[in-house]
Amino acid sequence: MAKDISFKTGRRTPTFFKLLRERYLKDGIGEGYITFKWEEWGKNSSIAVFRAVKNNRVVGWIFYDKKTSTIEEILTESTWKGKDPRPAMLDTLISRESLVAASLLKGDKEKYGLLLEYGFRPTLYTRRNGFDLVKMELSTSVLMKKTGAGKPFHAYRKKERVAVEKIPSTQTYDEIKTGLSNLIDRLGGLRRFVKPGQTVAIKPNVVSDHGYKDGKIVGGIVTDIRVVKALTEMVLGLASHVYIAEGASINRSATSKMFSHYGYDEIVALDPHKVSLVDLNTDRFIEKQVPGCKRMSSRKVPATLEMVDVIINVPVLKIHFAAISSLAIKSLQGAVPPIEKYMSHFFGLWQSLVNIHHLVKPKLTIIDGLTGLEDFGPVSGTPIKMDVLVGGTNPVAVDAVAMEIMGIDPKTSPPVFLAWMQGLGPLEKNKINVVGTPIEEVAKKFVQPAIDVSGGASFTIHADEACPGCKGYLHFVLSKLRRPDPQDPSRSIMDRPLEKKANIFLGPSTAQPVNPDEINIFMGVCQQHNAGLGTHMPGCPPHAEVITKAVFGLFPDIERPKYADETEETKLGKMLEEILEKSV
Ligand code: SF4
Repeated sequence: MAKDISFKTGRRTPTFFKLLRERYLKDGIGEGYITFKWEEWGKNSSIAVFRAVKNNRVVGWIFYDKKTSTIEEILTESTWKGKDPRPAMLDTLISRESLVAASLLKGDKEKYGLLLEYGFRPTLYTRRNGFDLVKMELSTSVLMKKTGAGKPFHAYRKKERVAVEKIPSTQTYDEIKTGLSNLIDRLGGLRRFVKPGQTVAIKPNVVSDHGYKDGKIVGGIVTDIRVVKALTEMVLGLASHVYIAEGASINRSATSKMFSHYGYDEIVALDPHKVSLVDLNTDRFIEKQVPGCKRMSSRKVPATLEMVDVIINVPVLKIHFAAISSLAIKSLQGAVPPIEKYMSHFFGLWQSLVNIHHLVKPKLTIIDGLTGLEDFGPVSGTPIKMDVLVGGTNPVAVDAVAMEIMGIDPKTSPPVFLAWMQGLGPLEKNKINVVGTPIEEVAKKFVQPAIDVSGGASFTIHADEACPGCKGYLHFVLSKLRRPDPQDPSRSIMDRPLEKKANIFLGPSTAQPVNPDEINIFMGVCQQHNAGLGTHMPGCPPHAEVITKAVFGLFPDIERPKYADETEETKLGKMLEEILEKSV
């Protein structure tokens, strides 16, 4: 990524208006739009003007709305004769601001081409004051590629402490409780987090019923109930009330059923007057503004998490087939209402997870690593006995240490990477003070899922630069087609001859050009610019239901697998369509 351009703060002077007017007239666009924008910027105090400087010379400007993380204008200095400086200006901007959007006039082909080439994709068309506008979002995959080897511009200043506690392999309840107590002591003791009389929400991971099979608990999928029980017992010594709060992500209406599945009544029985179970999916919700409005301007958070004094997040040490890990950052997906769980795929799941952390702030995170889950987590992986607890106050630092224990580079997880880039916490080892059991004593390399996005006989997948998000979800859907074809069991469904050759494109760019005479399916925000050339699966990454519907559309006689309760998903899909219609 180019590093030869720096920004200095500029001012909105009349010279700019002259320059902009000339630029729009030169490109055959009337001056009405820029006159409207100029007046609008004058009333907006969050517009920053960045002067781009190269070798002590101003080469261009960016008008940037800091409140909405949106590029309003990008312009080259009129006397500049060298190579177009704007891609390098965008490099500098994203190294400072991470995931940004851009707003432009729909007919501005020159700027559209520049942004498209860089990695922005058109996600929303709106009409305002008689002007047709396009909102373009930067592909997360492009951002990760361009900034991956660098450091966050806004470096995290504090040093964070993360505690690791080895638990005896016998894992008796008393051993777990003692381990938990030691872990919290290493972080400053329970009174550092919970004051007498405060209300506390403990948020375990109870993602689905996969952790209970044939009458037996399968470890590593949901938080071990013994950890939640021991923690509740400890917290009850100080708190006036403990809420065990979770909103299951798969079959979302069934959180209460899940609580009874996993025996949570046993925890309520500790003190039925002071312990309650809360299904966050059916809670009352409070709308909150997202700072920076990255991918979304507001989101709803459950009232219980707003009302309590302290939130303790208790995820599991596990792999996620698309997010790479499902730890502190990922597990807050359970803390958003069902429609937003669905919508967050549409607007950008990875950024959505960072946004939740701006609004729902656990004071303490304790990762249950009694049994972890390797391979195809979060629900179909293989349990791996780990005998460890990991805890801390900063979710990014906790995830960094947990992933080191699992033998995974934390920067490979898109949501953890974004949280780090956006200053939520450190990944750097010199900024994390690990206390307790040395990492080497508990580390075991987790098997990572073998993601297979190969196609079939007349079905090609083009995934050159896709991030793990689209690849993971596509793998999940394709795996259902890698079985004998009922029409001819000697081949798989994937290898069934189709009337026309079919393609699925994913990732921001692919070597293969689109052939309009073939069947073309485009996946995610990264391929949104091609939506008009075939079937488009919206989202980043698209929801499993959306992918299933599009891919199984090629094989209409094959029954579609159900990711979750179908009526519920259809209802959510309709709600999302209505929301999107209103926004256009
Ligand atoms: S659309 Fe897919 S490939 Fe692109 S950034 Fe999102 S998840 Fe990754």
